[in-house]
Amino acid sequence: MSTMRSVDRLMLIDGVMTPGEGGAAGDWIASHSPATLEPLGRVPNATSGDVDCAVAASARAQREWATLSVWARAAALRNLAAAIRTRGSEILELEARDTGNTLAKLHADVQIAAGYLEYFAGLGSELKGETVPATATGLHLTIREPYGVVARIVPFNHPFMFAAAHLAAPLMAGNGVVIKTPETSPLSGSILGELCRDHLPKGLVNIIHGRGAPAGDALVRHPLIRRIGFTGSVPTGLVIQRAAAASSVKHVTLELGGKNPFIVFPDADLDRVVEAAVSGMNFAWAGQSCGSTSRLLLHEQVYDAVVERVARRLAALSVGDPLDPQSEMGPVNSARQHARVLELIDSARHEGARLVTGGGRPPGAAFEKGYWVQPTLFADVTPTMRLAREEVFGPVVCALKFRDEAEAVALANDSDLGLTAAVWTKDLPLALRMIRQIEAGTVWINTAGQHFVGTPFGGWKDSGLGGEECLEELLSYSRLKAVHVLS
Ligand code: NAD
Repeated sequence: MSTMRSVDRLMLIDGVMTPGEGGAAGDWIASHSPATLEPLGRVPNATSGDVDCAVAASARAQREWATLSVWARAAALRNLAAAIRTRGSEILELEARDTGNTLAKLHADVQIAAGYLEYFAGLGSELKGETVPATATGLHLTIREPYGVVARIVPFNHPFMFAAAHLAAPLMAGNGVVIKTPETSPLSGSILGELCRDHLPKGLVNIIHGRGAPAGDALVRHPLIRRIGFTGSVPTGLVIQRAAAASSVKHVTLELGGKNPFIVFPDADLDRVVEAAVSGMNFAWAGQSCGSTSRLLLHEQVYDAVVERVARRLAALSVGDPLDPQSEMGPVNSARQHARVLELIDSARHEGARLVTGGGRPPGAAFEKGYWVQPTLFADVTPTMRLAREEVFGPVVCALKFRDEAEAVALANDSDLGLTAAVWTKDLPLALRMIRQIEAGTVWINTAGQHFVGTPFGGWKDSGLGGEECLEELLSYSRLKAVHVLS
């Protein structure tokens, strides 16, 4: 992998790229390549004072932003989308280096981010209310108004895409936004800061870097923040709910983890099953996706065949330099992720699961440094094993066997998580019954992993609260006001 000069990247606060109080005091977070451990840059660790400045600036700018027509707001979002596309290659190269996600598939992240800005820009006139015939002579109606300043907190797996796409709905609904980037892989957030500085009203969007505390915690507890959109892990989601509730009444939505079942009945097309079991795991980001299809639930008649064919595909995946267009998988994101993935692999071994392929650091000098893990498949996993229950957030798949529909449903729902599920069968009545029985926010039939703009993506149970990527996301960043006009 070619080297890159390590650069200080700043925060956007009140229209200015700045080190903030945190950086001025010498408190910086270093970022390095997860592939080579080469230093890539550093960002300031925002203080609660920085958070105060960001929220205050956003509140000042938001007052005028909210008076603009939805068409004027839409135009600004479209300009930002175009500017993102213009700097797309630069964003992607930095993102691939900083996250370890492979460039070949990562290019979609820039298009998705710009696409969401354009999608929500087109939905402005849907921010409408209703009239209610409550009396014969009066007019009883609802109007939608913004919350003010919204906090959006972003995870490490797609830091640019989430930060940019998550501006769209709140801005379109008339809010200001403060984004907090993740503490690993924050660097592309500074490019987003420059783009927002250049293409949006001064102060409206602020991008702060920093750790969960003090930056994230101060943002969640800030009295002017009444609306929080969080994407990240279940434990942090719970902490945020508690912190928000401890300070005032806030609307919190959560996009959290998954342990997503991929259920194969014996009549399924096994060629497509095997392809989807691999693509659904999102190896391009080393399996670090909330929607990864990490629990293969296989009917006993096809269990051995699917395990063997998926294992062959995993063993053949090209693991290597994230910047090499031929690479299908890079390293996991951080030392923390690396330790977690290896620990769960060890635990599966000790609990008696059968390692079919992978299971550790790939051999060879190229993989001695950095956070590399082989694509890994365990078979003969039982429902009580940690590997069957805990989100790995890494390139590790587990296979469990079922005998009939009832057992498939029981296994699929035997989880505190309920983000997605995929069902493979040509039997339409069976598919329809499965759709009804599965506890998850998304069910795919004969496909897996795809998102379709305009349909809600959001978890059930501990996987989250609220649907995104659709009209409901836009509406959720507005508050309803009832108005009664009587003569
Ligand atoms: P994480 O929970 O460790 O961190 C997410 C963000 O929260 C980071 O910016 C972090 O700094 C911040 N944070 C940490 N503590 C905080 C606190 N006390 N207050 C406020 N902010 C705080 O998650 P991660 O490891 O970055 O991301 C991986 C997780 O994200 C996985 O569980 C994955 O499933 C989930 N995820 C979910 C979706 C979805 O759409 N459902 C999408 C992507 C990732």
